[in-house]
Amino acid sequence: MVAQLAARGVRDRRVLEALGQVERHRLLPEAFEHRAYEFQALPIGEGQTISSPDIVALSSEALALRGHETVLEVGTGSAYQAIVLSHLCARVITIERLPALARQARQALDALGVRNVAVCLGDGTRGRVEYAPYDAIVVTAGGPVAPPPLLDQLARGGRLVGPFGPMQAQRLLRIEKDASGQLQEQAIADCRFVALIGEYGWQA
Ligand code: SAM
Repeated sequence: MVAQLAARGVRDRRVLEALGQVERHRLLPEAFEHRAYEFQALPIGEGQTISSPDIVALSSEALALRGHETVLEVGTGSAYQAIVLSHLCARVITIERLPALARQARQALDALGVRNVAVCLGDGTRGRVEYAPYDAIVVTAGGPVAPPPLLDQLARGGRLVGPFGPMQAQRLLRIEKDASGQLQEQAIADCRFVALIGEYGWQA
């Protein structure tokens, strides 16, 4: 896994180590466990997917984490991305809109002994103002544009990474907020995620 990620251009050693440590098979339904280490999004129930390891690696690398940060994730799903982040920063707040997946993710985090991830239920496109500002934000479902509340809740000097564009094909973007509050955008890769559904995403 680590060698394949490095071959695909992932350079951050801490990100490679984190991806190497997370047991992706423990986050999948039994029927898909044998495919856990493929570079593929796979079904996790409720019509949703666990993200592919290369997308998780690219997103995590683009967040440029050093270890002290508070990170917001929108779209908990299986908790795979959240667990990778738990190795890279101080605290992860992750929001899931589907109660069954939020419950399943909480159980997986407990079973794996991950203690610095808080799972919240709700519409992540509105962010979670009580823990803001965030040093970094990752969105793991595809929306038309970066939700304005998330850009507001991003700290100066912070980075937001997520897939934005049409429902059938998005671009993984990195948006940096500089010290004066200006936003700079950079494209990382083409991608296709399940829909970001909410007030500042697609309608249900
Ligand atoms: N981060 C996940 C992982 O590593 O497995 C990927 C999850 S999947 C690609 C996207 C998730 O986003 C789904 O679980 C979906 O229910 C959730 N989602 C979609 N819209 C959302 C919203 N507005 N707020 C919170 N979660 C949302």
